[in-house]
Amino acid sequence: MAIATINPATGETVKEFTPHDAAETDRRIGEAQAAFEALHHTTFAERAAWMRAAADLVEADADELARILTLEMGKPLAQAKAEALKCAKNMRFYAEHAEGFLADEPLADPSSVGASRAYARYQPLGVVLAVMPWNYPLWQVIRFAAPALMAGNTGVLKHASNVPQAALYLDTVFERGGFPVGSFRALLIGSREVEAVIRDPRVKAVTLTGSEPAGRSVASIAGAEIKKSVMELGGSDPFIVMPSADLEAAAAKAVTARVQNNGQSCIAAKRFLVHSEVYDAFAALFAEKMRALVVGDPTDAATDVGPVATASGRDDLAELVDDAIAKGATVLAGGKAVEGPGWFYEPTLLTDLSDDMRIVLEETFGPVASLYRFESREEALRIANQTTFGLSSAVWTTDAADEEYFVRELEAGAVFINGMTISYPELPFGGIKASGFGRELAAEGIREFCNVKTVWKG
Ligand code: NDP
Repeated sequence: MAIATINPATGETVKEFTPHDAAETDRRIGEAQAAFEALHHTTFAERAAWMRAAADLVEADADELARILTLEMGKPLAQAKAEALKCAKNMRFYAEHAEGFLADEPLADPSSVGASRAYARYQPLGVVLAVMPWNYPLWQVIRFAAPALMAGNTGVLKHASNVPQAALYLDTVFERGGFPVGSFRALLIGSREVEAVIRDPRVKAVTLTGSEPAGRSVASIAGAEIKKSVMELGGSDPFIVMPSADLEAAAAKAVTARVQNNGQSCIAAKRFLVHSEVYDAFAALFAEKMRALVVGDPTDAATDVGPVATASGRDDLAELVDDAIAKGATVLAGGKAVEGPGWFYEPTLLTDLSDDMRIVLEETFGPVASLYRFESREEALRIANQTTFGLSSAVWTTDAADEEYFVRELEAGAVFINGMTISYPELPFGGIKASGFGRELAAEGIREFCNVKTVWKG
């Protein structure tokens, strides 16, 4: 795959980039290693000042960053700017909280282990490789980089091949804020070059956000090297609507949860499970709102849904929908690609789904929603848990017993009640099953790439 900016709204190749060869990749890992040796000896206060300065830069650059994101992957401009600002917020969050999250943890009763004092200390591991996707080209990276750098690690970034301009911005922003040169280095390399980077002895751990096949490959190489890894993979999140739900609010959020970021979010609600008592009313509201969405130029403020990021992504989506329709699904909205240049796909709502359709088990990475009817919460749970994924979930109910049932039983890394899944710096984020392992954000996220060193004193 060429490393290039290709505008998904037009299909036009805007700019191609020369990949880094083995020598340049080696040099960049060396810079990150040298930066680690420097960063290791800095204080939280120093790193926090640099992180805040980098956050200021991201805020100041937000309009330019938004333009790059929209050009490279097609999200509506306002969403692109919001992404940049959310990154700055996360950087400030870790600037403020890293020291507390990583403070020594003393054992309350050291005599129980025969010590006068015993505690755990969190220390950085070194250079961490980040393999990142194009869907949130800044946020996915900053979600890892802000805590990693605050902990004293450094990073090398293998970003998706279709977002090189975003990668090159991230290559400099931390050192512009004051971090040692090389603290965060972008590698313009293809996915085939990733294995050698993981196996490089200077690289101590790897984090990946992306597809299941990419995760399997990277996690197994990391496993063979006995290096720590965190995997944030795909999802097919259920959105469950019980009879007690506020249907209007649920339908409005259902649309946002499905189509934001042009439908390309791992934590997007993808399967909508609705109790038969409210099914018809919810389906009518949902279909009406999906049909009302404006699809088009992502730089136009009136646009709700821009293009799918790649031609192959749109083809994959069309295949899933076509397969379902051929096997008897009913189309309540959309159902096909938009004619003309660019990789647009109509906001689509399908119902009358059966287990022989691929869409029931596979992830739809675009503005396509599937609607299921259930008679009992046990049946809702069976459908919700039947995919191999387990990222997040949403439940709409005002019944306390239903709420507790789903919080306990859903196989997912998160449950959102009467809302849609969003990642917050303050809350841990990650999945189970084929959605991956490990956590990002909050205290859990910063501790993933630390050595928890036990100290015992007699
Ligand atoms: P990929 O997983 O292919 O790409 C994500 C990153 O991994 C990119 O940097 C990519 O590089 C790299 N990569 C891909 N294959 C390998 C490999 N074998 N070894 C090392 N690195 C690799 O995502 P796609 O762009 O193909 O998106 C398709 C699917 O990925 C979606 O349907 C969705 O399931 C999932 N996805 C999930 C995301 C999430 O947030 N959890 C985000 C984006 C995608 P390169 O670009 O050079 O191929």
